[in-house]
Amino acid sequence: MKKIIILLGVPGSGKGTQAKKIAERYGYRHISTGELLRTLESDPSASADDKAKLAEMKGGKLVSDELIYKLAFAEIKKNVQADTGVVLDGAIRSVAQAVGYQKFFMEHGWGGEAVVIEIALSDSDIMKRLAQRVESGAGRADDTEAVMKRRIEQQGNIALAPIREYYKQLGIWQAVDGTADIPSVSAEIQKISEFGVRS
Ligand code: AMP
Repeated sequence: MKKIIILLGVPGSGKGTQAKKIAERYGYRHISTGELLRTLESDPSASADDKAKLAEMKGGKLVSDELIYKLAFAEIKKNVQADTGVVLDGAIRSVAQAVGYQKFFMEHGWGGEAVVIEIALSDSDIMKRLAQRVESGAGRADDTEAVMKRRIEQQGNIALAPIREYYKQLGIWQAVDGTADIPSVSAEIQKISEFGVRS
């Protein structure tokens, strides 16, 4: 089984839920860059410099690649070098980042260790999902309507398309239907993770 599972998907596609399931099932480390950023935000010992870079997050924009690499690469390195697989959740949100991560994997000899699984969902389905998240009380501080709209503009299918193309060209991309229920999506992801293909 590949050591680096990259989950791609628009906000609200269920990446977080599915990443947790993969991590539990295989003993992989779940790396959510959103979580790493929120941890940094509440860390009193974090540098003012790093905290200043978090301003974009509050407005639903992407934070700098530099900060993402610093946080995510350290976690990936620590785990993969200790032979623990990783599942990356929301860690790659632009082609520049996809290229940056790939370069990092190659430099460490992990070029063949990555598989990309997209949880596919249309933009109209995203708004419905995110609205449910707010109504159920599970919404986060950045789940307001204005921020949601910006997140869809910046992190929705238009933004995802070139990333998808990049991974398709590398021959490591597969997709599952994100409108299915959680156990069905999980079962499809499991097949790809273990056997490299869906049935
Ligand atoms: P999430 O918890 O995955 O929805 O991420 C919350 C916020 O963190 C996003 O709206 C972005 O502002 C920021 N963020 C998370 N991951 C990335 C990334 N790979 N690149 C840039 N910004 C990110």
